[in-house]
Amino acid sequence: MLPLEQALTQMLAMLPTPDCAQAEQLPLQHAVNRICAEDIISPLNVPSFDNSAMDGYAVRLADLAQNLTLTVAGKSFAGAPFDREWQTQSTVRIMTGAMLPAGADAVVMQEDVIVNEDGTVTFPEKIKAGQNIRYIGEDVKQGEVVLNKGSVLNAVSLPLLASLGIDKVKVFPRLKVAVLSTGDELVPVGQALKEGQIYDTNRFTIQLLLEKLNCEILDFGLLPDNEQEFEKAFIEAQQQADLVITSGGVSVGEADFTKKVLEKVGQVNFWKIAMKPGKPFAFGRLKNAWFCGLPGNPVSALATFYQLVQPVIAKLSGYSQWKAPQRLAAIAVTKMKKAPGRLDFQRGFYQVNAQGQIEVQPVGFQGSHLFSSFVKNNCFIVLERERGNVEAGETVTIEPFNHLMS
Ligand code: AMP
Ligand code: MG
Repeated sequence: MLPLEQALTQMLAMLPTPDCAQAEQLPLQHAVNRICAEDIISPLNVPSFDNSAMDGYAVRLADLAQNLTLTVAGKSFAGAPFDREWQTQSTVRIMTGAMLPAGADAVVMQEDVIVNEDGTVTFPEKIKAGQNIRYIGEDVKQGEVVLNKGSVLNAVSLPLLASLGIDKVKVFPRLKVAVLSTGDELVPVGQALKEGQIYDTNRFTIQLLLEKLNCEILDFGLLPDNEQEFEKAFIEAQQQADLVITSGGVSVGEADFTKKVLEKVGQVNFWKIAMKPGKPFAFGRLKNAWFCGLPGNPVSALATFYQLVQPVIAKLSGYSQWKAPQRLAAIAVTKMKKAPGRLDFQRGFYQVNAQGQIEVQPVGFQGSHLFSSFVKNNCFIVLERERGNVEAGETVTIEPFNHLMS
């Protein structure tokens, strides 16, 4: 059996990143969830001029060294700067965000001054140079890379570009992914079940996950376990898609037949991955597309998609800034059954206890045919390959479900 990490390393080493020549330029509002195909360099300083962080008075410390009471020379409002000559022994009334008059050393907030009857203003003694001033380029410097190539364009990165006056961005093409299910026993959701039939869950699951990853989905439907039908569908799918994802038909016995068809269309490896759930997994290259064959079991299909296909899609999409789901340490609240030999992804529910520690326990049954285990839980409990049973109180590694599963 192939360790999961090794399978991942082997796959990722084979996969190319998309060609920048295929990138397209889009207006920001059409670039949501796309992958940025260029380093974004700031054309501006942010802020673009020194300005006030408070409503108050702009002062020169040299004036105050002589006298704490100053006359008011004029006003600076946001969008309407003070544009006259600034006489000595005077202050400029200034509002938040307004341009600082040239030569000002500090802004004193209005609550800290006394406005006298004659209109002059008296300042407190302790004023620090630079106080309440937002300096030019403090947030972003002109010429600085503000977003790396390979980042996702989302609700925080797109407004950053907008704030810099950038209205278009180069993005990689959306990955075209063909999805198909295999199995004589399967029926599309929405039809009545006959004896011995089950619903095709995987095509639905995989399409939902692909939607979250902003892929372009090509639904190739449901295939009966029939060699001619497989061959026809695989040939068509790989002509249209960048990646073909199937489920079912990769376990022993069935694999021989799927394998034969896939060998005609490309080179596909059938792996036994040392992970649970999800042992059988196929990966390789068809003539025009990459191929991932997931196990049929809905729990295994989801777990292998999450652990193996998610990074494959990130790489093929140009999402080089993608981060593998974070792993944390947690205290097991209950015993857990585990046989050494495979990396185990049990489903667990984690929470922070009254002492501020993360604790975790599996809720419900764990069988790889029991999809409800995903609904009742919020993380994977990742139990190392060589580990045996876990006792209550032991430390385990958890992997909170990411946005794909929420
Ligand atoms: P297979 O990998 O084809 O041997 O399938 C393993 C198990 O998963 C069998 O019990 C199948 O009936 C079931 N299965 C396969 N494909 C699907 C699917 N698309 N939706 C739900 N169950 C499936
Ligand atoms: Mg099958």
